[in-house]
Amino acid sequence: MKLILLGPPGAGKGTQCKRIIEKYGVKHLSSGDILRGERAAGSELGEKAKEYMDSGQLVPDDLIIEMMIKAMTSEKSGYVLDGFPRTVVQGEALDKALNAAGEKIDGIVNLQVADEVIAPRMTGRRSCPKCGAVYHVENLKPAKEGECDKGCGPLVQRPDDKPDVVANRLKIYHEQTAAVVGYYQSVGGNIINIPAEGSPDEVTALVIAELDKI
Ligand code: AMP
Repeated sequence: MKLILLGPPGAGKGTQCKRIIEKYGVKHLSSGDILRGERAAGSELGEKAKEYMDSGQLVPDDLIIEMMIKAMTSEKSGYVLDGFPRTVVQGEALDKALNAAGEKIDGIVNLQVADEVIAPRMTGRRSCPKCGAVYHVENLKPAKEGECDKGCGPLVQRPDDKPDVVANRLKIYHEQTAAVVGYYQSVGGNIINIPAEGSPDEVTALVIAELDKI
C-alpha cells in the first residue's frame, strides 16, 4: 500500500503515520525526519536546509524532490509519505516519477484541523533530540518535567515549534500546501478526508476504518 498523508503542520501526521506503519507494515517516509537526519549528519543537504527549516520556510522543491524520490525508490513494498508533497510542483514531480516506475498512490489521507486547534498543539510540543520521542507540556507530559522517559536527558522545543515560526508555518501551509489537495482532486486522486481534531486514538480509528477499504 502506498499512501500520502496530508494536513497542516501539527495535525498529528507523525503520530498517525506511526500507527499506520504498525498496522499495515509499510515504511514511514517523513521528509522532515529525513531532513533532520541530514542536518544531524552534517551533510551538504542538511546545511542547505537548515536556514529554511529554522525559520519555518519550505526547503526548495528541487532539493526535496530529489531526496524523496531517492528514499521511495528503495521501498517497493509500500510507504506512507509524510510531509511530502508540500507544493503542487512536488506533487507533479512525484506523479511523474511514479508513472515512470509504473506505480501509483492508493490513497491520500487528508487530516483536517483548524488553525486555532493547531497552534497550541505545536507550541507545547517538546521532543527528545536523542531518540526523537515527542511529548506535550499539557497533553502528553513526560514522567519527569523536561526529561525524556527513556533516560536520554533534557527535552527541547524544536526551533520551528516556537510561536512566531508556527504562525509562519501555518501561513505557508495555507498559501502553498493546501493547494496540494486541490491538485489531487484535479487529477482524480483517492482523497480520504479525515476530521482530525479529536484524540489521537479517535483519529486513528477513523483512518484505519477508511484504509481497510483499500
Ligand atoms: P516537518 O517535520 O514535516 O514539519 O518539516 C520540518 C521542516 O522541514 C519544514 O518546516 C520545512 O522547512 C522542511 N520540509 C519538510 N518537508 C518539506 C517539503 N516537502 N518541502 C519543503 N520543505 C519541507
